[in-house]
Amino acid sequence: MVENNELRKAGLKVTLPRVKILQMLDSADQRHMSAEDVYKSLMEAGEDVGLATVYRVLTQFEGAGLVVRHNFDGGHAVFELADTGHHDHMVDVDTGEVVEFVDHDIEKLQHRIADSHGYDLVDHNLVLYVRRRK
Ligand SMILES: [Zn+2]
Repeated sequence: MVENNELRKAGLKVTLPRVKILQMLDSADQRHMSAEDVYKSLMEAGEDVGLATVYRVLTQFEGAGLVVRHNFDGGHAVFELADTGHHDHMVDVDTGEVVEFVDHDIEKLQHRIADSHGYDLVDHNLVLYVRRRK
């Protein structure tokens, strides 16, 4: 199974909760899930994995570089698989929905700003808090 290989590559032992949680992150429509979201989805799928286990496994995944944790304002931490390239996020302040985007002008501008201060840009984190127009 793909998940087993992913776990081994990340240096984690293959256990049932780890496989189930990785499968859930892989197959869910939502790319950004809180521990509670993962827990609820597992329950709905009839999987018996406790919330404490979900928290523990997600933290292990984060440590192993399998997932990235985001602490957006005004919500729970959300996790996403670290299998995509760089992108930034928008968070809907009413629904908590997370939207990914990449804007090449913004990427370039950030390099230019760092450069004009005598720095090389090594990383950045950009979150837009948005409200859907009515
Ligand atoms: Zn994302």
